[in-house]
Amino acid sequence: MKALVYQGPGQKAWTEKPKPALQQPTDVIVKVTKTTICGTDLHILKGDVPAVTPGRILGHEGVGVVEAVGPAVQNFKPGDAVLISCVTSCGKCANCKRQLYAHCSDGGWILGHLIDGTQAEYVRIPHGDNSLYPIPEGADEEALVMLSDIMPTGLEIGVQYGHVQPGDTIAIVGAGPVGMSVLLTSQFYSPGRIIMIDMDASRLELAKQFGATDTVQVGAEDPVGKVMQMTQGLGVDVAIEAVGVPATFDICQKIVAAGGNIANVGVHGKPVELHIEELWIKNITISMGLVNTNTTPMLLKTLRSGKVDPARMITHRFKLDDILAAYEVFGNAARENAMKVILSA
Ligand code: NAD
Ligand code: ZN
Repeated sequence: MKALVYQGPGQKAWTEKPKPALQQPTDVIVKVTKTTICGTDLHILKGDVPAVTPGRILGHEGVGVVEAVGPAVQNFKPGDAVLISCVTSCGKCANCKRQLYAHCSDGGWILGHLIDGTQAEYVRIPHGDNSLYPIPEGADEEALVMLSDIMPTGLEIGVQYGHVQPGDTIAIVGAGPVGMSVLLTSQFYSPGRIIMIDMDASRLELAKQFGATDTVQVGAEDPVGKVMQMTQGLGVDVAIEAVGVPATFDICQKIVAAGGNIANVGVHGKPVELHIEELWIKNITISMGLVNTNTTPMLLKTLRSGKVDPARMITHRFKLDDILAAYEVFGNAARENAMKVILSA
């Protein structure tokens, strides 16, 4: 089969790999019908994620059709259309019982990291029963792909960890696909005001279309001064970091109101400065973590009810065979105005 293979920092190839086979009784082999490229794939390609070694097939988002199931798989059979979760987990261990699927003691593998991923014609999904979801009939497959990672990430680590409440003033720093997913899912909880902060004017414009009430353009405006002015010096109830650099975590520390929450979603490659001396006196709660995809069932329901349409994030479409061209576009996201790129088999 063809697959997108990481070949070491700066190197990748769309090349022939053996079709995956069942290894464990709980495995499912899925024929990938739609997948994407995520910002994390670009980090891996730069060599910023040393845990990913050359030879790895990238990709952790996708939908597909079940090709084969191991003898212990109960929920799926060949021919079933499935949504692939970016995290594979047994569903039975102590951490899985607490819905901490990213910390499954028999997996917790993120596809395209320590095991092969979805940017391929076929993918092996360990613990298929707990790591795949049946696709409801008539569902928009492109919207569903946004439920593999970015939508649960935004909802779980941004909105739920940040305890967004009705009427709250919230700020989201970072208007990439993850920040946009925070923006879309925060609206389930009816915040009164949503301030989107980014340096890219076109992404801020899109954020307004997605429901941001205010935007702040870093570079052109002073984000801290502007947010404090907008909130009469009080700051925001919830500050959500969706970039992963020290400067944006710092903005969150400065704009959070007394008694507020900072929810850190971004993956930080470098240490950040934690200003406990300023935060303690404001009674701030800080949260962070890996997506568990435990909100996927809830997101499937919101999708079905028409409450949210994450497919609005898709700006570019390619055939899976043209994945190298898709990487070119996504790698120059700012120049190409790319938000989410979909690849179809
Ligand atoms: P992205 O790179 O597409 O978007 C980041 C946005 O931040 C861009 O719009 C960029 O213009 C903006 N930005 C960069 N520097 C900035 C600055 N100094 N001030 C203001 N804005 C700035 O990334 P993404 O795919 O949306 O992902 C966002 C973060 O979420 C990444 O760190 C990613 O690794 C992380 N992530 C975390 C989890 C999790 O489980 N917690 C899951 C998926 C992704
Ligand atoms: Zn488990």
